Amino acid sequence: MNPKLFDIHAHVNFKEFDSDREEVIKRALDNGIWIINVGSDYESSKKAVEIADAYAGVYAAVGIHPTEAVKPPLGGFTAKLKELAKHPKVVAIGECGLDLYRRKKSDLERQKEIFIKQIEMAIELNKPLMIHCRDAHDDLINILATYYSLLSTRHNGNIHFFSGTWEQAQKYFDLGFSISFTGVLTYDVGRITDIVSRAPVDKIMVETDTPFVAPLPRRGQRNEPFYVQEVAKKMAEIRGISYEELAKITTQNALRLFFRDASV
Ligand SMILES: [Zn+2]
Repeated sequence: MNPKLFDIHAHVNFKEFDSDREEVIKRALDNGIWIINVGSDYESSKKAVEIADAYAGVYAAVGIHPTEAVKPPLGGFTAKLKELAKHPKVVAIGECGLDLYRRKKSDLERQKEIFIKQIEMAIELNKPLMIHCRDAHDDLINILATYYSLLSTRHNGNIHFFSGTWEQAQKYFDLGFSISFTGVLTYDVGRITDIVSRAPVDKIMVETDTPFVAPLPRRGQRNEPFYVQEVAKKMAEIRGISYEELAKITTQNALRLFFRDASV
């Protein structure tokens, strides 16, 4: 049975949920919400896989976040990560990408190197990419364009917590990438609202980025996948369609991308 909503980027694998992880996951699943828990380094990726193993409707993405990419030691990380990535409930490689908001420009080459290793892994294992990018969209688009002929499916991955411009969003769509939005939408950020309303219907998804960016009225508190409903409500309002329709569309987009399900 398909879920009602799919929170495609959460971190219930993080320590913020050590005391009530089970409850948080059940609250989502009992309401028809499926979850992808995303790793940001080897340990959190491993944890995401362990959690995915324990629950139907919970999946994992494994990868090295660009802000972790500059921290030694990363020796042998590709082989270790690849072993994790082969698990059948790992539905994406990431989060990986580039971040010049929290890291300096001098780190960029190192970030690119680690990112490219993960692109190559995604290609080899035929899994989509879960991408994080802040303040480095043009660099990232250039890298993806270089690998496009190797990725070469219409559903190559997702740019999570999309923060770029409309022009950059269009380039991602052309490269076979979707974009997903968080509770930040409920803070009424004009530029992002405009992108939500213009994006192609088959290229948008919802996420919480739990435990971060809780939607209104819980801004500043710990977020959890259950609140992805608030993101979906806001997105439906922006696009002028019903909540049910928005939920159906974004869920189908997630199934198509992460499960390579051609029937939706
Ligand atoms: Zn994240």
